[in-house]
Amino acid sequence: MKIPFATILAVMTFAAFGDVLTPAAAGDVKVLGRPGELLQSSLNARVFSAYAQGAVYDEAENAFATHSDDSDPDRGYCGWQGEYWGKTMLCYAGAIRYTRDAKLAAWCVKKAHRLIDTYQQPDGYLSTYANRDLLRMNPESLDSAQHCCFNIWGQKYTMWALVELYRATGDGKCLEAAGKMMDHLVSQLRRLGVTIDKTGTWEGMSSMSILRPIVELYIEMPKPEYKELADYIVRATDVREGAKPEVNLIYDAFSDRPVVAWFRKPMFLAKAYEMQSFFEGVAAYHRLTGDERALASAEAFWGHLHREELNPMRSVGYFDHFLGAKRRVNGMTELCDVTHWIRLNRELWKITGETKYLDCIEESFYNAFLAGVSPDGSWGAHIVRSHGTRHLSAPQQVGMKMHQCCPDNMLRTFYDWAETVADISKDGAWEVNLYSDADISLPGMRLELRGDYPVSETFRVRAVAEKKGRLRLRVPYWAQNMVVDGTAMKPTAGRIELPVEAGEHTFDLVLKMPPRVVDSEAPEFEDIDTVTELDTAKPEGYTKRFMSWYTPEMKGLERRTAAAEIMRGPLVVAKGRLAGTSRVETFDFKTINKKGWKISLAPSARTAANAAVWGAWDMTLEKDGERRRIPVADYWSVSCIDDPENWFSLWF
Ligand SMILES: [Zn+2]
Repeated sequence: MKIPFATILAVMTFAAFGDVLTPAAAGDVKVLGRPGELLQSSLNARVFSAYAQGAVYDEAENAFATHSDDSDPDRGYCGWQGEYWGKTMLCYAGAIRYTRDAKLAAWCVKKAHRLIDTYQQPDGYLSTYANRDLLRMNPESLDSAQHCCFNIWGQKYTMWALVELYRATGDGKCLEAAGKMMDHLVSQLRRLGVTIDKTGTWEGMSSMSILRPIVELYIEMPKPEYKELADYIVRATDVREGAKPEVNLIYDAFSDRPVVAWFRKPMFLAKAYEMQSFFEGVAAYHRLTGDERALASAEAFWGHLHREELNPMRSVGYFDHFLGAKRRVNGMTELCDVTHWIRLNRELWKITGETKYLDCIEESFYNAFLAGVSPDGSWGAHIVRSHGTRHLSAPQQVGMKMHQCCPDNMLRTFYDWAETVADISKDGAWEVNLYSDADISLPGMRLELRGDYPVSETFRVRAVAEKKGRLRLRVPYWAQNMVVDGTAMKPTAGRIELPVEAGEHTFDLVLKMPPRVVDSEAPEFEDIDTVTELDTAKPEGYTKRFMSWYTPEMKGLERRTAAAEIMRGPLVVAKGRLAGTSRVETFDFKTINKKGWKISLAPSARTAANAAVWGAWDMTLEKDGERRRIPVADYWSVSCIDDPENWFSLWF
């Protein structure tokens, strides 16, 4: 096999700053159990079906022909139809990695070539915007209607997908087309005399999130001008002296001020999707360059989100903004933000090996993410919420009928999960990180995980080692220890280590999951009624406006008072119709917040009786001789159906 010179150069240059571990390749992991069934359904519906490869694909490609993004007078001139081809093909590239399906790879290459041959201009421009030089609308205005332009944002996804298709299939024409796109952008910015931070939407934030795909392209095609643009983006967001730009993310990450206080108009600018996409790029930039400040800022940003923005569904943000989500009782998280919270954690985990990032991935996946995927895997939620009748199923967006920002990201999260399940550490140890049923191959080791974790506390790892070595098992933050074959073992830095000889081993494992109460940090009373629906100064305006958006039956279900959350292992516990909780008990429950109730859970027979519910328990609450009993289930199961007659709540 001929290794391209560019690859050799990349390996030589960047070996010093590599990750501390190598995750199991997606194709070496088969996710099983209930999450695995949903992953498979989603793959069937969104990748392998004739509908996906026909009408759905065609609609994404068609955006390059209609130029509706900047040519549709009915909708204004700032569409983002340009993101869908790239996001769709990122999901296909991931499907090739996960399934290793040669026929699928050939189909993708054929489609990509058609796009390139039909729509890429000789100078490399490849976008849904007819006017190539429309890179910004009115950067002086903070009014979103005047301000937004997604030309570079859309190109970012197209270029990234071409790089990932090259990696998944080896097709050089895809990589070459990505390089030509980048060459065009670099020369265009020079020609126009504009810098990238002055383009796009949200004060350059949307355009600058191109940092991640630039890094990935540069690894495959190390042209100095690509790295110069990456360097510029990092510098432009780390202005330390003099007048600071409104978006100064790397610098602000080190500040004690919460994210919500970084911007003049946080209701407009504190955008969760773009900021997380940006910092994923900052982490990748560290991997490329060894820039320690970049890594420190990504870690500091993560710290802000973990302290200020973790919402009760275990994602981050409040209606796609960082407005202090930890203090909000009407939890609303965009599915794209779940995807990118998991991606940010994954980058930091690979670079540092720290298990706190795995804890976040695990909780976000089992709760916010799975709840947002429709039960047949074909579509998803735009907004996943803490309570109500249903999540907000992704509505039509910028004139598309079969694409929406959130479902178009969904499969990537499943692959990210598969690629986090296990790894081989730099010191050669095999590491298991997530315990859902799965089959895994690592160099020198095959693993089988069985036992229906985390609904079950007991599960089994069967390990077949080709040689003597060490097997490390992650112990989540909520567990005191892990019981291995009857012996409790205390973790060090979030892991226990087992020596293994060559041959086959079976370990019976227990992670005890007593229920734990998470008292709310929200104010005792949230004033929703005095804000107007379009109040752009107060976060409550979002609750008022969006709680019943497309879901009119939700009117009146806004919470005004704080309540506690109950967790069992990584699962958020919830009340709901499917758990057997009455509607009155679900919404009008007398809160246990900060009141010190004792809680216990006993497995319920309803799990077997109700196929829609994964985990079901009878909860008992006791305090001062008072005792309450209530049927509960895992939050995913009770909340994922798109039915206005349903009800659920994670608040107690
Ligand atoms: Zn979205």
